[in-house]
Amino acid sequence: MARRFALPKLVVATHNRGKAGEIRTMLTPFGVEIVSAGDLGLPSPDETGTTFEDNATLKALAAVRASGLPALADDSGLSVHALDHQPGVYTADWEGPTRDAMVGMRHIQDELAARKVPQTDAARRATFHCVLVLAWPDEHVELFHGTLDGAIVWPPRGTGGHGYDPCFQPVGETRTTAEMSDSEKNAISHRGRAFRMMVEACFG
Ligand code: IMP
Repeated sequence: MARRFALPKLVVATHNRGKAGEIRTMLTPFGVEIVSAGDLGLPSPDETGTTFEDNATLKALAAVRASGLPALADDSGLSVHALDHQPGVYTADWEGPTRDAMVGMRHIQDELAARKVPQTDAARRATFHCVLVLAWPDEHVELFHGTLDGAIVWPPRGTGGHGYDPCFQPVGETRTTAEMSDSEKNAISHRGRAFRMMVEACFG
């Protein structure tokens, strides 16, 4: 049984205003006041883990230790099966120092071409991952892992979403996640799934 969350305030371990805002919208109905690590001026820990679970846990516990409050952190990325599941935890790094999603998408396409991977969905399977870690002040943690299976398509299509969405087509879809509305994507996405699992287990 997961531990129920019954505290009044929660730190979202991110300096990304968009992410903090999305989480605030999702958790406000449960009577939780959301503050972000950015608002509190907390330092960002180095993401030295080799799994999404490790990185989300180290971000959540760093925020707990720095603030004394419970914290929620996420770590996400894209695993391309024909590339030995790269870029994985290094998905953001593949976007280069300026975090340009086009750079990351082209990097994936170049690696697939270098390995002569055919332009078929079956050969270009990929999975988006999102791990959420909710950590309490006594350092108890609950983890939730959501995934979305699909294929890498080229050229990229669509202007919605963010990051690698224009080159990712979910299984059973003819559109990329960048061609969906936010609510359509959220209903099936790795992040939406992880959030719903957490809400059901800890907040419902
Ligand atoms: P993080 O914010 O450090 O966890 O890095 C996540 C990386 O995965 C970034 O490069 C994002 O662009 C990418 N990513 C995560 N979720 C999505 C998504 O839903 N769509 C597209 N790219 C994503």
